[in-house]
Amino acid sequence: MDATPSSLAVTANRPKVTAIAGDGIGPEVMRAVREVLAAAGGAVEWEDAVAGAEAFRKGIHTGAPRDTLDSIARNGVVLKGPLETPVGYGENSANVTLRKMFEMYGNVRPVRELPGVRTPYTGRNIDFVVVRENVEDLYAGIEHMQTPGVAQCLKIITEVGCERIMRLATALAEAEGRRRVTVATKANIMKQTEGMMKRTGEAVLRDHPALAHEHMIVDNCAHQMVIRPEQFDVVVMTNMNGDILSDLAAGLVGGLGIAPSANLGDGCAMFEAVHGSAPQIAGKGVANPTALLLSAVMMLRHIGDFATARRIEHALYVTLEEGKDLTGDIAPPDRGVPTAAYVERIIANLGRESTSVPAREYRPIALKHWPQITWYKAAATRELVGVDVFVESERDPRAIGITLQAAAEGSAFTLKAISSRGTQVWPEAAGHTFLVDHFRARFMFKDAPKGDAVAEITDLLTRIGRQHRWMHLEKLQRFDGADAFTRAQGEG
Ligand code: NAP
Repeated sequence: MDATPSSLAVTANRPKVTAIAGDGIGPEVMRAVREVLAAAGGAVEWEDAVAGAEAFRKGIHTGAPRDTLDSIARNGVVLKGPLETPVGYGENSANVTLRKMFEMYGNVRPVRELPGVRTPYTGRNIDFVVVRENVEDLYAGIEHMQTPGVAQCLKIITEVGCERIMRLATALAEAEGRRRVTVATKANIMKQTEGMMKRTGEAVLRDHPALAHEHMIVDNCAHQMVIRPEQFDVVVMTNMNGDILSDLAAGLVGGLGIAPSANLGDGCAMFEAVHGSAPQIAGKGVANPTALLLSAVMMLRHIGDFATARRIEHALYVTLEEGKDLTGDIAPPDRGVPTAAYVERIIANLGRESTSVPAREYRPIALKHWPQITWYKAAATRELVGVDVFVESERDPRAIGITLQAAAEGSAFTLKAISSRGTQVWPEAAGHTFLVDHFRARFMFKDAPKGDAVAEITDLLTRIGRQHRWMHLEKLQRFDGADAFTRAQGEG
């Protein structure tokens, strides 16, 4: 299946691709990759654009100038070098900006043993793909200091976000002839957020009976990746888990210098090496362009040029197998050559076929279209049963309990429990809980609210505010008869 156009392919004969060389070693590896693509006959028209340090220096706080955003919006395909996140000027990561602005919700990282790249796992035939949700989770970056000594970051997981990444993962599995999907989560602890990925994953996989599937607790998944990585085929994770485990996975097959990635969204795809700008070796002409080259191979498949992708991939494999003219990071000690010599060797090997790498068939990935609407999920019934009020106090839980019980007297609420960092400390302490000045007080409605529940809550907050600083409030709801909140450790 080497010449079928992708469902997302740009239809022009020479599809335009936005090229962002990036920072540090970015320009060197980008030049190298473009040379290989030109020599291999990749019919791509490049549109150069700027992002990263240069943009930050010009005072563009997102790190991505308007022209660059327009170019990406026009072309829908980007090949990007690494962008440094400068310390001291500009505070956003330009990488995160680009992923979020174009809603590139799926991060795809193939993890494949390469010939000639020796690792402790050589010969184990590692060949799997990590599919990481790319825009939600703790990376929404919603952080607040709750007290001068207590910080909070909100972990936002949506059902539609989970479904999107699962549909992408199953489409990718089917396109690459893969057989097994592992959903790795921390659902045992975070039942609502990570649990949503588990539940949604299982529901989506029911639509794909030909794919074997399993759920794995993510810490065990990390362990299994190190112990028996060859068992994996496609692994799907929420953002932060996927961020960490995909770097671990890259380490299994030779490290960041050779690890490619794709950021996929609806109508926009950005291909980049996993590594950063490697400032220590920038400008020396010794950087390894393999990671960006393999990212470009993914890009060629995305735009439907399966034949050139295969040609380049095999020329690279043959070069690595022969082991001559490799860059210093993968060559035997003191035998590394400059980037230019490595690229020359790859170009000379174009047209040759590797026999050592098992063949894989690639087909277009049938990505589902997700319209830009406000996704809304209704519940048949919803009840408001109480509130959690987070208060700052230097007192001990018993004293706080007395004051909060007094505050609730005559209100619509009764104080049910107080917890500290998720563990109940009042009315009974669950154990020897270490205390900080940040407490969650759980108040339940005495009776189902009949009148103005918001007025009842405001009244409670006013009463609490007379004795304590409170920082935030969470409504305790039941959707379709099920609690939409979890209990503290030790809470009855
Ligand atoms: P890094 O740039 O990936 O470099 C870490 C080390 O890995 C380098 O010092 C180098 O090791 C080796 N290395 C990485 N890529 C290589 C290549 N192509 N060829 C040969 N060796 C390579 O990580 P970092 O130093 O933590 O980050 C530097 C900057 O990059 C930061 O500003 C960070 O924010 C940014 N970054 C950007 C992206 C992105 O754009 N997607 C991703 C990660 C980091 P030796 O020193 O041993 O030669």
